Amino acid sequence: MSTPATGKTAASKDASQERQKAMIQAYFSRLARAPDEGKKCVYTFVPGNLTELLGAFGVLPVLPEINALQSGMRGKSRDYIGLAEKLGHSEDVCTYVKCDIGMLKSGNVGPTGERLPEPDLLLLSYTGCFTFLKWFELLGQEYGCPVVMLHVPYQGDGVITDSMRRYVVDQLKKKVIPALERISGRAFDEDLLREQLARSAQAEDDLVWVLESAKQKPSPIDAYFGGVYYIGPIFTSFRGTQDAIDYYKELRAEVQERLRLGKGPIIPDGELREEKYRVVVEGPPNWTSFRQFWQMFTDEGAVVVASTYTKVGGVYDNGFRHDPRRPLETLAEYCMGCYTNLNLPTRVQMLSRYVKDYGADGFLINSVKSCNSFSAGQLVILREVEQRTGKPGGFIESDLVDPRYFSAANIKNRLESYFQMIEQKRGGGT
Ligand code: SF4
Repeated sequence: MSTPATGKTAASKDASQERQKAMIQAYFSRLARAPDEGKKCVYTFVPGNLTELLGAFGVLPVLPEINALQSGMRGKSRDYIGLAEKLGHSEDVCTYVKCDIGMLKSGNVGPTGERLPEPDLLLLSYTGCFTFLKWFELLGQEYGCPVVMLHVPYQGDGVITDSMRRYVVDQLKKKVIPALERISGRAFDEDLLREQLARSAQAEDDLVWVLESAKQKPSPIDAYFGGVYYIGPIFTSFRGTQDAIDYYKELRAEVQERLRLGKGPIIPDGELREEKYRVVVEGPPNWTSFRQFWQMFTDEGAVVVASTYTKVGGVYDNGFRHDPRRPLETLAEYCMGCYTNLNLPTRVQMLSRYVKDYGADGFLINSVKSCNSFSAGQLVILREVEQRTGKPGGFIESDLVDPRYFSAANIKNRLESYFQMIEQKRGGGT
């Protein structure tokens, strides 16, 4: 019972999308040239990444999760995962890890077709996911390079205390900064770090403005499927750079124009003409059938107005900004504030707030098989958010980059039933 609500115009890419594509391509080329140019590379993870600090030392971050998801979107993950499983990695292991190991064993050619550099350092920022430890243990064995761990305390009580902050700052001073000084051959320059942080804050302001534009009706953006593109530069290697400032400025101007014209979001087919349902989504998307998954929403006229996945590399809409006046403390707070480091009550509160503030008709959980950091407790979240908001919740299951766990027919059926339920509730049905 799909109602096509899309304007099937030829998909024209916005200038910001073109800019982002070029930025990413150029970054992978820079990584490919790094060994010849004598540039040092640090592998690290998205949640709790210290991009500004790395930038202050002139070293290049490499993010294995991004390589895995990009490989998934480009149809390469199936073979990589198959190879990792042949080498003995269990079916239960997070598929980002297996995709990465498979890629490494296939010659370490990155998603854009260029070779990735070997790490000079593995910087393990531990933000709530045990898999991170095991992943870098494996890479440490493969590369034989140094590993430094930043232990980020979990926000078990839903707050960041002074002692937690001091604990992280202490590790930055005593472990992380000395390790970066060793590999880069440079002394730590706090002023350079402050400059990076100031640029981050500027880009973060524009990102938050874009995400919050979805409170308008119709929403000019899709804050999940479109949102993953919007968070790309800020969650990866571009925070602290002029490129990030320029990208978010351009994106904001585009969204402002869509708002002025009363237009809905850009979707793969063109633009959404009729906003029938507004939903909040919890959990990461599926990357191997990303477009098909998105299409299942747009076919129903559904727009995602807020999502938690777009907070996995920083929850900026609660007011956090990198603060150049307190360089190390702000990095500590950033790491502790990432979504995967928040406890269940905080996540429930956040989702309930989104449902209310964004005028949503309901919320959906995409529970991915791979990721315990996201999936543990999602059924409790479902029940709690339903109780607090009085809005219906829906539950679908897929995976990040393992195409064996994306069952299109099942997901489509569930989504159709879910939107029918919203329709019935609107009409006063039971
Ligand atoms: S389990 Fe989740 S958070 Fe951990 S590495 Fe895999 S996808 Fe990332």
